[in-house]
Amino acid sequence: IENRVYNFSAGPSILPDEVLLSARENLLNYEGSGMSVMEMSHRSKVYDKIINDAFDHLRKVMSIPDNYKILFLQGGATGMFAAIPLNISKTGVADYIITGNFANNAYKEAKKYMKDVRVAGSTESENFTRIPSQDELTLNPAADYVHICQNNTIFGTAWHTLPETGSVPLVADLSSCILSEPVDVSKYGIIYAGVQKNMAPAGFAVVIVRDDLIGNPQPICPKIWDFGKQAEKNSMLNTPPTWSIYICKLVLEWIMSIGGLEELKKRNEKKAALLYDYLDSQSFYKAQAKKESRSMMNVTFRTGDDELDKKFVAASVEAGFTNLKGHRLVGGMRASIYNAMPYEGVEALVDFMKKFAREQA
Ligand code: PMP
Repeated sequence: IENRVYNFSAGPSILPDEVLLSARENLLNYEGSGMSVMEMSHRSKVYDKIINDAFDHLRKVMSIPDNYKILFLQGGATGMFAAIPLNISKTGVADYIITGNFANNAYKEAKKYMKDVRVAGSTESENFTRIPSQDELTLNPAADYVHICQNNTIFGTAWHTLPETGSVPLVADLSSCILSEPVDVSKYGIIYAGVQKNMAPAGFAVVIVRDDLIGNPQPICPKIWDFGKQAEKNSMLNTPPTWSIYICKLVLEWIMSIGGLEELKKRNEKKAALLYDYLDSQSFYKAQAKKESRSMMNVTFRTGDDELDKKFVAASVEAGFTNLKGHRLVGGMRASIYNAMPYEGVEALVDFMKKFAREQA
């Protein structure tokens, strides 16, 4: 595709060229239906196949065991911050581990719907530059669940080893790392994610939930977020976000065509290593996250001088890169290098960083 910029946005973010081209190819008349997917009834046969393909592909790509349901729900990941306590709270007691802004938002939302939501660990005093270790956690064996944010989009950190929670279900927000590498779904009670980074354009959240956690919602749980009801209705209790589910299906087909999550993991490791190795090899830029906690998807760095950071961001736009400005909570720069970012994009970024550093000398 011509005139594409290297888009390092944290989300909504870059989609694979192949997906955009396929969507364009079928935009006006989807498979002989005489209409676009945007115009189609969600109750039509053609659409039914689209959504079922999306579910089937996701189950296959992530090797999701049969005792987990997959749901596509509206409200984004933020909606799920509420939907989770509304669906799976049994005793009103939960543990939240605070590793950044979204983990904290999830915690604050849960407190509205459960009587005893505790902070079982936090790295806030270190500006969320790392993930806590197991011995820093104070987990309550009587909790209904333990919540983590597996990849911290703003701070550029990720859990590389999951916390040991014993028989307490682990609930994880994978918004900014889902589909970036294989995960063992059976280790989780719930995996959820806003789709607008690695899966689809914005429009819904995916929830992968173990069967035994379904079916006991709090009476005030809105019907559209009732996991059991939505599972029964194939996530079509009301009108689903038809277009983004369609693009999600195409993204999953792209993933299968290139060799699945094993292949993506290799590619993502290679891209992240290129950037982190450069950051570690010089002193003009400083990586923000501690080595052992670094995210493969969101790479945060700074020069140490706010004015120079601004200059960097402005020059990067001139050079054909977008969205490298860090989140306002962290400052500096952030390169989000999701699945669809090609290796060449990261190479071009590192070349640009070298050139910029030389010019300031
Ligand atoms: N969790 C994480 C890790 C995120 O990165 C984001 C959005 N950037 C959210 C939750 C919120 O997602 P949404 O906008 O879908 O509510």
